[in-house]
Amino acid sequence: MRITDYELFEVPPRWQFLRLETSDGLVGWGEPYTKWHFVNGSAPATRSAVDQMIQHYVLDADPARIEDIWQSMYRSSFYRGGPVHMSAIAGIDEALWDIKGKRCGEPVHELLGGRVRDRIRVYEHVSVPHDEPVADAAAAAAREARSAVDEGYTAVKLVPTGGLERIDVPATIDRAETVVGAVREEVGPEVGVALDFHGRASKSMAGRLLDALEQFDPLFVEEPVLPEQGPELARLAEQTTVPLATGERLYSRWDFRPVLESGAVDVVQPDVSSAGGITETRKIAAAAETYDVALAPHCPIGPLALAASFQVDACAPNALVQEQVVIGEDRPLSYVEDPSPFEPTDGFLDVPEGPGLGVSIDEERVRDLDGEDLSFERPVGRRPDGSVGER
Ligand SMILES: [Mg+2]
Repeated sequence: MRITDYELFEVPPRWQFLRLETSDGLVGWGEPYTKWHFVNGSAPATRSAVDQMIQHYVLDADPARIEDIWQSMYRSSFYRGGPVHMSAIAGIDEALWDIKGKRCGEPVHELLGGRVRDRIRVYEHVSVPHDEPVADAAAAAAREARSAVDEGYTAVKLVPTGGLERIDVPATIDRAETVVGAVREEVGPEVGVALDFHGRASKSMAGRLLDALEQFDPLFVEEPVLPEQGPELARLAEQTTVPLATGERLYSRWDFRPVLESGAVDVVQPDVSSAGGITETRKIAAAAETYDVALAPHCPIGPLALAASFQVDACAPNALVQEQVVIGEDRPLSYVEDPSPFEPTDGFLDVPEGPGLGVSIDEERVRDLDGEDLSFERPVGRRPDGSVGER
């Protein structure tokens, strides 16, 4: 069997779906995480990277040899790693696993050693209106958290601050404390409340925020500082008992290695569609396990990326909880023929049983929506003095 053809679709909101076809007529799907968006209608960088990887290393290859294709794509690219290259590799890797699973009539996790759990815990995002007065923002966040818990979720996540000064005023800390306190009070101690600092905080602000929010027992605090501030992350870990998490902007075992070696984190959050696919994320998970670190895969994109994440969650002993933005949402689910793999019970999804990634794509709908204008411009986040901050 050989890989004979591919198509890369670009569909709303800004997702890429990759279709690989084999000489036997089998089709596999993957979702490279779109990087460097469609600014003013221009092509995302991932499109060119996928084209190049497939034309150099995938067309005419035997799809059974996933590891060999992965190594070819990674090592033969002299300039390697990073968000664009590893996302292209990821989407291709997912499609190859989908093909292998369909060929064997088994879900991918079955081929990776079999499932280690029956259900996968997922969390729901709670949005915080940071521009509103603090009492309103806290009430809105508490309401959203309540509704997630009423739907059965056992964990939620929120971003407790807007943009920050390098060293901000006490009111900013008080505000975060009020918002997170309101959510904790609303959901009680049986629910995980994860916080995402989103890399917005300097090490000074991260320290102050961790001190103020530790009383609410966060499930974890994500990106307390930017991923490039590794030594600062390690110092923060020494001052707090809050589990720290990072990884959505790390792309390979080699990126995670210093984070794990520093002992700074309790949770790693590789994105299967950004970090080299199922092949690489499973290895990152195994590396994390040796440091007694949990896995909570990042996934703010579409149903194929989430389905690929489920395959890793199913067989990674240290998987803690899965991020998602698909469940209960009309548009993401309109791309699949059967939404049942994305319908949780009590905040958990059954481990998928279908072959490959366990989802079938509604190809007609994907073809219909491919080519729509996906223009998007990420605004520059500026502080009150006009300087550029983190968003
Ligand atoms: Mg995040």
